[in-house]
Amino acid sequence: MPISANDPSRKSWLDVPQNSDFPIQNIPFGVFLTKDDVITIGTRIGDHAIDLGALQQLNYFEGIELTDDMFMQDTLNDFISDGKKTWRLVRNRIAEIFDAENPKLRDNPKQRDIIIFTMDEIEMQLPVLIGDYTDFYSSKEHATNVGTMFRDPNNALLPNWLHIPVGYHGRSSTIIPSGIPIHRPMGQTLPNGETSPVFGPSRLVDFELETAFITTDANVMGENIPVHEAEEYIFGMVLLNDWSARDIQKWEYVPLGPFLAKSFASSISPWIVTMEALEPFRTKGPTQSPTPLPYLQSKGKNSFDIHLEAYIEPENAEATLVSQSNFKYMYWTMSQQLAHHTSNGCRVNSGDMMGSGTISGPTPNSYGSMLELTWGGKNPIKMSDGTERKFINDNDTVIMKGFCKNNEVRIGFGEVSSKLLPPFTRK
Ligand code: MN
Repeated sequence: MPISANDPSRKSWLDVPQNSDFPIQNIPFGVFLTKDDVITIGTRIGDHAIDLGALQQLNYFEGIELTDDMFMQDTLNDFISDGKKTWRLVRNRIAEIFDAENPKLRDNPKQRDIIIFTMDEIEMQLPVLIGDYTDFYSSKEHATNVGTMFRDPNNALLPNWLHIPVGYHGRSSTIIPSGIPIHRPMGQTLPNGETSPVFGPSRLVDFELETAFITTDANVMGENIPVHEAEEYIFGMVLLNDWSARDIQKWEYVPLGPFLAKSFASSISPWIVTMEALEPFRTKGPTQSPTPLPYLQSKGKNSFDIHLEAYIEPENAEATLVSQSNFKYMYWTMSQQLAHHTSNGCRVNSGDMMGSGTISGPTPNSYGSMLELTWGGKNPIKMSDGTERKFINDNDTVIMKGFCKNNEVRIGFGEVSSKLLPPFTRK
């Protein structure tokens, strides 16, 4: 069955602004609250949000095997569980319904009123109930930069790094969709030159420019996913700002890795862009040397050309672009990450989220965190209002964008935007 939804020549009867991340070839999936306070699963074309629950009730998915309330739910987990064949049938059908040549819904204003909203009429929610969240550390440039700053420039990469997609188990309870502000975290740090720690607000709050992939039910406990099958179990991707408190991290991370420096917040873009929509943007990742062990070896184009940007928007000032990176710089691919994750028999479920790790490129303007961009605070970045940033200030908003583009189509993620508020105070 071809992915007819990707046909680059297709136009929609819904208007799509130029340079929109959401042409009819995208058809991402998300969950939103309508103005009538109804929660539903939906998709987006241009600046229109489409209620898939309403489409299903009006029989637009006839002939596709779906449970009756598939899209009238507050998470995508069940739909994702249905697997790749269903995802493709549904995307193809949505493309047909909104095709410029198809009059069925186009010429039915009554149904259009029920099904179609503008983006400013709705409120995006978390798209999935995320059971488990794993964050990798798969950019060689990022790992090298951090190793150089925190440990030893001559041995920046630890001996395991080129053999293992290094990762840690994160916290899903504090993953939030774009638009939700967060508080500067409190924590324990060791001030420079001191021998005793103090407790207080983190002074070095940072972003991490990442993407994340959402899985379907991949295996039962005890079974592994071979690397060449791993893509079958990846539903799609989102942008991820993996907020990090560098001073807390530096003191707490030995010997077990990140803990409270990361678990206070992780912000994601609300539309899951499917791997099928990203198919035209496949590319080869970096050459891996030494050759990984056989269970991690894969052939072909297993990376994706996704342009990524990070901005800082001070209160009452224009946003300043601080980083331009690309997903294709990642050393370890998502297939390798998932194969490694399940290689010991660890179970992966529908709606699990796996972060890429900070995506830094080869040039200083492509680094994916303030830690690297300012080189530990040594080279502050100038904002549009003349102020400088070493890390993120209270009331700054961090915005990340991501999109793929070729001569025919632009497929994007929209943005993940979140404001850093001062520390929480108990009233
Ligand atoms: Mn991270």
